[in-house]
Amino acid sequence: MLKTHNCGELRPAQAGEEVTLAGWVNRRRDHGGLVFLDLRDRSGLVQVVANPKTAPEAHATAQQVRSEYVVQVKGLVRSRPEGLENPDIPTGEIEVVAQELVVLNPAKTPPFYIYDDSPVDEAVRLRYRYLDLRRPRMQRNMMLRHRVVTAIRSFLDARGFIEIETPILFKTTPEGARDYLVPSRLHPGEFYALPQSPQQLKQLLMVAGYERYFQIARCFRDEDQRGDRQPEFTQLDLEMSFVEREDVMTLTEELMIHLVEDVADRTLLQNPFPRLTYQEAMSKYGTDRPDLRFGMTLIDVSDLVAGCGFRVFRDTVAGGGVVKGIRVPSCAAYSRRETDELIAMARGEGAGGLAWLSVGQDGAIRSSFAKFLADEDITALVGRMAGEAGDLLLFVADKASVTNRTLGALRLVLGERLGLRGGEALACCWVIDFPLFEWDEERQRWDPSHHQFTSPRVEDLPLLDTDPGAARGQQYDLVCNGAAPAGGSIRIHRRDVQEKIFDLIGLDRDVAQERFGHLLRAFEYGTPPHGGIAPGIDRLVMLLAGEPNIREVIAFPKTQQAADLMAGAPSPVEPEQLEELHIRIVEET
Ligand code: ASP
Repeated sequence: MLKTHNCGELRPAQAGEEVTLAGWVNRRRDHGGLVFLDLRDRSGLVQVVANPKTAPEAHATAQQVRSEYVVQVKGLVRSRPEGLENPDIPTGEIEVVAQELVVLNPAKTPPFYIYDDSPVDEAVRLRYRYLDLRRPRMQRNMMLRHRVVTAIRSFLDARGFIEIETPILFKTTPEGARDYLVPSRLHPGEFYALPQSPQQLKQLLMVAGYERYFQIARCFRDEDQRGDRQPEFTQLDLEMSFVEREDVMTLTEELMIHLVEDVADRTLLQNPFPRLTYQEAMSKYGTDRPDLRFGMTLIDVSDLVAGCGFRVFRDTVAGGGVVKGIRVPSCAAYSRRETDELIAMARGEGAGGLAWLSVGQDGAIRSSFAKFLADEDITALVGRMAGEAGDLLLFVADKASVTNRTLGALRLVLGERLGLRGGEALACCWVIDFPLFEWDEERQRWDPSHHQFTSPRVEDLPLLDTDPGAARGQQYDLVCNGAAPAGGSIRIHRRDVQEKIFDLIGLDRDVAQERFGHLLRAFEYGTPPHGGIAPGIDRLVMLLAGEPNIREVIAFPKTQQAADLMAGAPSPVEPEQLEELHIRIVEET
């Protein structure tokens, strides 16, 4: 080794020892006489001092080095003189007095500071990702990610899971996105599809009798890069045989608690995780990914306003819609402009409008609609909402789906504004009993809410023939701070049920046979009941690290346009390569 110790691990116990260190010059300070180098390696920083009197050559070299030079230092560890300790770094009580200093490799001036996390344009960070990865924030994130993955492996190993790799070059395994295709050179005109998840393969491993499988699996989905997505991402893919929904959820919950509390040293607001049905989540929070870090739940007031003097409320209830509200604390003094902004937001979600009522500090009511209401109706409404002095009450009257969506969105925006969505603690819950299908109006067909391999709840099986929209699936989503880092389900393990689902989602028998024949065939050879889940590692680490997006926890992420700015991918290829692949590029006109 070119070094005997790691920079960040030296302590007063090593004082008097001769050490050899190697690393990057984090910063250099030339104090006329002495030159100080902060030397950095993955373990941290240590101060090196070069004295022209005791080591003139090392001092001369130290004068020449610059930030990010790679150097090797031989020197003596000594306690820093009284009063010169640096309590901000773990090695702050000692320093290394250089005897020899060798430049292993010089460095150009980097395009941004490495030694701190001052903001840098993301495109520049991605272009020079190898430098960005040297910075403290990325080092912390990469190390946390490693610890998370290591902890996952040992947790599952201790519970009898085995890790099995599945192919990347495969056949379509759809999760609702477009496939990435790879042309075959040996089979002209034919393509592999990169797996959107190892879903079918893990189910086949259950048919194969492995009972408990997991994999840290790479998945590929060619989606429009809306929001915080990556074309390739990593998930902890796992599957278990002879289990019910409860078994998979319990195991996943134990793993999550371990990762949050023991590995990331964060706290959980709720333990055990609350369980909400899809219906409850939609009706109380307006979304199937409720952020449980704060309350502000949606409260139904339809019964109170069904006969009131405000026509919008009355007509909505009469027409089968609902009137619901949220109570926003400390916002009673909102100005006209601020309420108008909320109204515009509500319209943006598809609601016809937003009715508001504020309770002033002195109890005085201001409202967009109270003038139409009798005093006792106002009192009843404020009472139902548990409104107190200082509160702003917001109401939407519409179809249930629109009302929920609108108030759910306002709840998040206002929760953010009120600072209720920050903090160290994580709020996890399970959402269960999703509808098995969603109706696709445009294509006039049922779409699976999870994926087509999710089993209906056994008691809802007959509904597949009579009322598919009412059938619930054995799906479970793990929700954390308003994001869904994991989803899974108990699977269909019978060929007839699987074929029925293919029929309902409009997958032609021949197409189903062509795409999934291997799975249907396998189901005829003794398939155990099975189920699983797949927590997204990127999203999980992002939550644990408290980062705002998944690119911060991926070593080499792509941009929103699915490009790698560092290597320049995707890129054109040689004509011969295309020829070998039997591919001709058609220029768009
Ligand atoms: N394959 C699913 C997904 O990637 C997860 C699962 O059902 O286990 O979302």
